[in-house]
Amino acid sequence: MTGATIKRDLRTGRSLWADSPGLGIPVRPLKEAISVDVAIVGAGISGAFMARELARDHSVAVLDRRPPLMGSTVASTALLQWEIDLPLTALSDRIGAAKAKRAYLRSRQAVDDLKRIVAEERIVCGLHDKETLYLAGDAYGHRALAAEADARAAINLDSRHLGPAALRDAFGIDRTGAILSGGSASGDPARLAAGLLRRAAADGAKIYSPVEVVEAVSDPDGVTLLTDIHHPVRAGAVIFCSGYEFPEGVSMSGAEVISTWALATKPRTPCPRWLRDTLVWEASDPYLYLRMSRDGRLIVGGEDEASPDAHADKAKLKRKCETITRKLRRLLPDLTFEIDYSWAGAFGESATGLPSIGPVPDLEHCWAVMGFGGNGITYSVIASQIVSSALRGKPDPDADLYRP
Ligand SMILES: Cc1cc2nc3c(=O)[nH]c(=O)nc-3n(C[C@H](O)[C@H](O)[C@H](O)COP(=O)(O)OP(=O)(O)OC[C@H]3O[C@@H](n4cnc5c(N)ncnc54)[C@H](O)[C@@H]3O)c2cc1C
Repeated sequence: MTGATIKRDLRTGRSLWADSPGLGIPVRPLKEAISVDVAIVGAGISGAFMARELARDHSVAVLDRRPPLMGSTVASTALLQWEIDLPLTALSDRIGAAKAKRAYLRSRQAVDDLKRIVAEERIVCGLHDKETLYLAGDAYGHRALAAEADARAAINLDSRHLGPAALRDAFGIDRTGAILSGGSASGDPARLAAGLLRRAAADGAKIYSPVEVVEAVSDPDGVTLLTDIHHPVRAGAVIFCSGYEFPEGVSMSGAEVISTWALATKPRTPCPRWLRDTLVWEASDPYLYLRMSRDGRLIVGGEDEASPDAHADKAKLKRKCETITRKLRRLLPDLTFEIDYSWAGAFGESATGLPSIGPVPDLEHCWAVMGFGGNGITYSVIASQIVSSALRGKPDPDADLYRP
């Protein structure tokens, strides 16, 4: 038998989405030992996509030590992008052009798949198609972005370079250049995940909370999860969708947990018309990003810091939000706004901007899904596709891109 203990870790703050209405997820306590085809550890957006996908043809239990969605999902600013944190040109240098191309095209497909799933399941989560404006900054200047736009166009991605005059005319932004891309979206991550979990529950999945998984022990026939309430869960396969709280023994090579900050203004903040349909982020380190919600809030974030627990520091929250506000005013000087929410959370960063999705080494029948990066939600979709295909005996052709 092989085993792994599960580490307890981090999260903080109350975000805008903690107040989302209509989450209505059917949750139950674990009152006895159970046995299922698949146990999913974590009821965040990754566990939700996974449960919806697998509940159609497996018996599924989702286990969370908190109420569902209260990990990083509730903190997410939910820019639903196919653009990867590392530009295509830089990713090509790192992993080779062919793999980088596949990674970008897979992300592009995943955002379309997310939109299709929301439509099919009729999930009301404020999903809205958006363009993305990627501004030149101190990490990638206008020449690098021009080369990036060409590289994307060469693989048929909908991206075009804007020079400073075009950027000023269309968006009133004073930068040396930008890339404008089609095909992204935004939405309410809590209502999205809740809708997916409700769908999974309608297909028979059972969602148990609060239950902490403290150890996983595998054998040739399956896995036994030991829990803090002493009722074990036996499963043919276990998928750790535990966000930035990694199971011990799972490799984190090339990745680290960092802290990030975000704020939301009051509803109906007066903003230029284009901002309703556009996600904005910049090629800087640390970077600033922003978008509008359906009720007219500006949601702005960034100021990432390479510390796994700085997000818990209340004084820092104030300082970081002041910096974000200052940067926002510099970018869009005509905006007037009042801040309604500010929060911080743990976040993942990998050297390639790609997530880690794959079997847990030395723990048979166990998978771990770690959606690193600024587009973690896009990766939650991809993870549900890769793991479900593997469990159905049809390996996904892109699985190698994300293998730890
Ligand atoms: C401020 C912020 C902004 C972000 N912005 C974006 C964005 O704009 N776009 C984007 O795509 N992504 C964004 N992200 C990233 C995105 O939110 C994450 O990738 C995503 O939420 C990860 O979801 P998850 O389900 O994998 O993890 P989580 O939501 O953290 O869920 C993991 C769950 O596992 C449970 N758990 C952990 N260990 C155990 C255990 N041992 N037993 C039982 N339960 C356990 C936890 O309680 C938790 O509920 C942002 C993140 C933050 C913090």
